[in-house]
Amino acid sequence: MSANNPRAIKHTFKNRPTLEGAGVHLKRAIGFGDPYLFDPFLLLDDFHSDDPQQYLAGFPWHPHRGIETITYMLEGRVEHGDSLGNRGVISAGDVQWMTAGSGIIHQEMPKGDAQGRMYGFQLWANLPASHKMMAPRYQEIKSSRIPVVTRSNGTCIRVICGTIDGQQGPVRDIITDPQYLDVALPANSQFSHPTPRGYTVFAYVFEGVGQFGAQESTLENGSVILFTDGDQVQISTVGEGVRFLLISGKPIGEPIAWRGPIVMNSQEELRLAFDELQKGTFIKHG
Ligand code: FE
Repeated sequence: MSANNPRAIKHTFKNRPTLEGAGVHLKRAIGFGDPYLFDPFLLLDDFHSDDPQQYLAGFPWHPHRGIETITYMLEGRVEHGDSLGNRGVISAGDVQWMTAGSGIIHQEMPKGDAQGRMYGFQLWANLPASHKMMAPRYQEIKSSRIPVVTRSNGTCIRVICGTIDGQQGPVRDIITDPQYLDVALPANSQFSHPTPRGYTVFAYVFEGVGQFGAQESTLENGSVILFTDGDQVQISTVGEGVRFLLISGKPIGEPIAWRGPIVMNSQEELRLAFDELQKGTFIKHG
């Protein structure tokens, strides 16, 4: 294979309406079906709504262990608090990269903006066995710290994690070596981006329509595109622009035992986690 072997499309999916938390209506982009397909990623939720009744119930107190949850806001805000006493607000353009590790108990309450709009994403990244019980950690990134790369054809890329055109995103030192880009491509444009061989790469389209992969399949808003292996991804547009998340990471390749907000390697570890929740011994650090 040549060094410029572009990635083709392995699978495409459409997001699905899902009810989560205390009654939040969202669209799940990945996280149904085969949990190994997007390894190291487990889930991606799109919570875009102009109706506060669809999201105000929020995600009251719940635990996490064994994963990272990454929240990226476009509009509105989410108030959060946790068992360690951390409190904060994730506002439009901000990112919260939370490594649950050995365990946190938190709540996430969407509040919308003055017009009642809420727009954002939550991604779950798995942790390898060697790091599932690491101390919990937050990387709270304000919008102003996220570099915006603008190319000569008008393509605009917010770099949350990873490097593009020499600009490195502010989220660092993540175990699965992820890239997380928010790419807005104008009409009649092309975008290509190198991707490490062997890494899982997917795109989630949340505005417009584009041509994805080596075969230039046309995919619109609400589509998830999982790419085959290769050295780069190619996306182009014709009469309309497209905006998408482009996410990649190093596969973990370990057994996945997943129940609700806790993801471990074995059923025994899951039983232990839920047992500890009952006994009040779940929190190990902090
Ligand atoms: Fe959570």
